[in-house]
Amino acid sequence: MSRLRGPAPDASEPRVFRQAVAVTPDLASLSLEEKASLLSGANFWTTEPLPAAGLPAVVLSDGPHGVRRQAADFDAVGFFEGLPATCFPPAVAVGSSWDPELAGRIGTAIAREAHALGVHVVLGPGVNIKRSPLCGRNFEYYSEDPLLAGVLAAAHVRGQEAQGVGASVKHFAANNQETERMRVSVDVDERTLREIYLPAFERVVTEGRPATIMCSYNRINGVYAAENRWLLTQVLREEWGFDGVVVSDWGAVEDRVAALAAGLDLQMPGDRGAGDRRAVEGVRNGEIDESFVDVSAGRVAALARYVREPADGFDVDGHAALARELAADCVVLLKNENETLPLAPTARVAVIGEFARTPRFQGGGSSNVKATRVESALDAIRALAPSAEFAPGFTLDGSGDATALRDGAVQLAREADVAVVFAGLGDAEESEGFDRGTLDIPRAQVELIRAVAAAAARTVVVLSNGGIVSLEGWHDDVDAVVEGFLLGQAGGGALADVLFGVVNPSGHLAETIPLRLQDTPAHLNFPGEQGHVRYGEGVMVGYRGYATLGTPVRYAFGHGLSYTTFGATDLTVEPAGRDTARVTVTVTNTGERAGKHVVQVYVATAVGPVRRPARELRAFTKVALEPGESRTVALDLDRRAFAYYDVVENGWVVAPGEYFVQIGASALDVVAEAPLTLDGDDIVPVLTLDSSVHEWFSHPVAGSDVLELFLDSMPAGVAEAGGDASLLMTMVGSMPMRRFLADMGDFIPVDELERLTEVAAAARSERSN
Ligand code: BGC
Repeated sequence: MSRLRGPAPDASEPRVFRQAVAVTPDLASLSLEEKASLLSGANFWTTEPLPAAGLPAVVLSDGPHGVRRQAADFDAVGFFEGLPATCFPPAVAVGSSWDPELAGRIGTAIAREAHALGVHVVLGPGVNIKRSPLCGRNFEYYSEDPLLAGVLAAAHVRGQEAQGVGASVKHFAANNQETERMRVSVDVDERTLREIYLPAFERVVTEGRPATIMCSYNRINGVYAAENRWLLTQVLREEWGFDGVVVSDWGAVEDRVAALAAGLDLQMPGDRGAGDRRAVEGVRNGEIDESFVDVSAGRVAALARYVREPADGFDVDGHAALARELAADCVVLLKNENETLPLAPTARVAVIGEFARTPRFQGGGSSNVKATRVESALDAIRALAPSAEFAPGFTLDGSGDATALRDGAVQLAREADVAVVFAGLGDAEESEGFDRGTLDIPRAQVELIRAVAAAAARTVVVLSNGGIVSLEGWHDDVDAVVEGFLLGQAGGGALADVLFGVVNPSGHLAETIPLRLQDTPAHLNFPGEQGHVRYGEGVMVGYRGYATLGTPVRYAFGHGLSYTTFGATDLTVEPAGRDTARVTVTVTNTGERAGKHVVQVYVATAVGPVRRPARELRAFTKVALEPGESRTVALDLDRRAFAYYDVVENGWVVAPGEYFVQIGASALDVVAEAPLTLDGDDIVPVLTLDSSVHEWFSHPVAGSDVLELFLDSMPAGVAEAGGDASLLMTMVGSMPMRRFLADMGDFIPVDELERLTEVAAAARSERSN
């Protein structure tokens, strides 16, 4: 039996107890069984208390856009028995805000509610990348871009942790679909993991310092995330410096001993001690060192610093108002022809669509919050325009006479100045637990939109959906499109505020809206087959794929309109140290209303030995500007902004050469650009006899020597006929040197080549020091 050796218990483990009832766990006096009891939950939602060591039970609850505190009976899962809490905008909306301050305010408010509800760790936020628009859980995730997701999530975590409530960043890692989520093997190369699927986690860990990370259900290249030592220990702890608790997703642990060895501290929910008994047995029969139990139990025990007396309630009204204010800044105005929006309060408005009366404001599954109150768009519109009339147009469950419902709506639309149709996806169409099979909204809604647009003087469509939906088949028929995604309990009010111009929309797409499902870069490899999903598109996820291939889309990542206009001028890019730069750009509100503008900075390059996406988002900021106001903003681009992950060098490499810093109105609309030349990393490649002929001849240290040896070995006259030699080189360039020599008769002495490999190795280690 192989013995898994673990790290020695780390005496320097942080024991930063921030709360009043903090304890310093003294685990040395505990038995193995007592320590092991800390390694799994006492039930669905708490850790195991250990009074002998002064350790209270720590309460963990969902998460992520509001507290889902189960009312009673922690021995069972209870999706629909939550205590009332504010349902803030889910991550899909926060992603569209492009505003870390907004994300931070949500984290702060959730923490205050958690404190009042007796919750110590809130299970969120979720930072998985939206690889395919079909993922049923995309409403819980921020973006298809790792920078945007990471910056927003780090702000959320900082807001939450600053209030003394732990966060649990999830689902680590590469959990980008619901299909077969508990078994599927995500087959993905390391560069893609490092550049796309891990950076958001890395940023949250290093900038947000969350109490816990939740590992995902899926396997990565065949190994369950819960048992993946490379992921949970090497990358997470040794490279990123994470010192908190790794908790399993609920039910993600298959083999407790393997998971413990990989670095998984806390198994949730509890399994009546079965996992703990396996850990004890593993130690006793020599499978695993006791130090693994000690280290993980110590980490779980340290969570007690979050336990404190519950606060006396929270500000229900204040948080409801906050939810409305923040939701409005998440709304994305996709299209607005003929200045159809904002609506005048005096306009005769026909409000159409059941979603206006029965809002869809959050997604189904573990994140479902029992909202303190729900604002419908219809009520909120009537508060601003009392004469607004309503027709449902369709039913949410497809019942009723579709033709009569549609005709009633069309009749209303005909008599109005403007028809506002609320369309989208219902609960049955998307949720945790399954993926969608189509981007389409229900056919009855498409027919309704088209019929209304044909009858009304002006038509506005307002969408409510967690994952991206197709706009095809009706987009060109309507005057304006407002993408509300899922906005939380105050979404109805927020939408009314945007429609009537109480709030100037400032959201931008955090994911691309494609023309066709087939165009999505992951399409051929989603959701996989026979137990595997192959991330064959590599780093070309979302806009990286569309921009690189030149695939037309309906609306690009980063797109979003306003009721005012903005200009960007005077772009400058100055080196700020080795392979870093400072970007400045002046943004001006060129219209007549106050508004918020998102400055999007992309980096484009083709240098390096790997295929680079056409451009990548590397910095952004949101700026509020009065009409006519200008502001010069500065954004810093660090080394990573120019780097790719090199699997040969096992690290981030900046390739020398030319880069372009671009300001985008979206990922596909560059409005300003400045070049930048970087020295890059001075890498001396490894050289062996298996290196190719080309690698030998182009080697920065050994290349000229080997060329000389080669030319010396040529029969007289051939060397002068340089054309022939270079043609020969083109033909044989990819041959391994060992084979080349064998075939060509060892005309370069092997011992000379061996000497050069050593020269190269010495230069390599000298430069990397
Ligand atoms: C979900 C997690 C959630 C947990 C507890 C799991 O099924 O994937 O996101 O936090 O349940 O409800």
